[in-house]
Amino acid sequence: MTELVPALELRSLTKRYDDGTLALEDFDLSVPAGCFFGLLGPNGAGKTTLISAISNLIRVTAGEVLVFGEPADKLAARRSVGLAEQDVNLDRFLTVEETLVYHGGYFGMGRTDARERAAEMIDVFDLRAKAKVRTPKLSGGMRRRLLLARALMHRPRLVILDEPTAGVDVELRHELWLYIRRLHAEGTTILLTTHYLEEAEELCEEIALIGGGQVIARDTAAGLRERYAAASLTEVYMKTVGAGRLRDPRQGVGNGASPRAPAAQARR
Ligand code: ATP
Repeated sequence: MTELVPALELRSLTKRYDDGTLALEDFDLSVPAGCFFGLLGPNGAGKTTLISAISNLIRVTAGEVLVFGEPADKLAARRSVGLAEQDVNLDRFLTVEETLVYHGGYFGMGRTDARERAAEMIDVFDLRAKAKVRTPKLSGGMRRRLLLARALMHRPRLVILDEPTAGVDVELRHELWLYIRRLHAEGTTILLTTHYLEEAEELCEEIALIGGGQVIARDTAAGLRERYAAASLTEVYMKTVGAGRLRDPRQGVGNGASPRAPAAQARR
């Protein structure tokens, strides 16, 4: 049965950073509960800002963010969200197991429940051999797996994956998607940002194309292809948010793209 309350409801959301950068302007978006939803857009489009607002990591300038009907800064909303961030932000003094158990405690899980769930996540993400190892001693792929395990620790109803497969090897990517698909089949809402458009095309039930802090288009991949008379999502992307961002270098003009965002840590 589909839930009537949307997983996510953003109303006239505006975020202006302290230095004056307008990252989101009057942004409206509703994501139905249980949906596998893709958020696509070029560097600097506002995706991470949006995710930070949903996860209550930044103060919004204006507008409303509701998670399963609750304001994003309320405990119920915060406990509904599991975020795997783009930046690997693990505590270097904690082991794999401690990382998960502490996270569980932070999200209100009892000690026994947190230990059992941590053991489950360690097995799911194939981290058993490293359970007692501190995070700086993990490989890059293992750290990414731990980030995902941590995001899922408290059994969130909305899982946000911010470029989860950036720099991840083929095997891990495959395993990761198998697991995420299973979670989704069990009813978890997934919000995904990725620059791998084929991945979004294959996985997402609906896609929003974001540009300049606003939604440019939103539909199924097939609906978007039809609307823009395009053979692929990549073509849709190039016709919409990707259009005209790079100039011919022979003209001696710089790239019009926004600079990469500073680390997520810095903006909290
Ligand atoms: P990417 O695909 O590169 O991760 P993004 O779509 O996630 O990009 P955001 O990180 O949300 O984009 O950035 C949106 C805009 O807000 C950019 O112009 C960025 O430079 C700016 N921005 C992000 N964080 C801050 C901050 N802490 N202070 C000032 N401006 C910021």
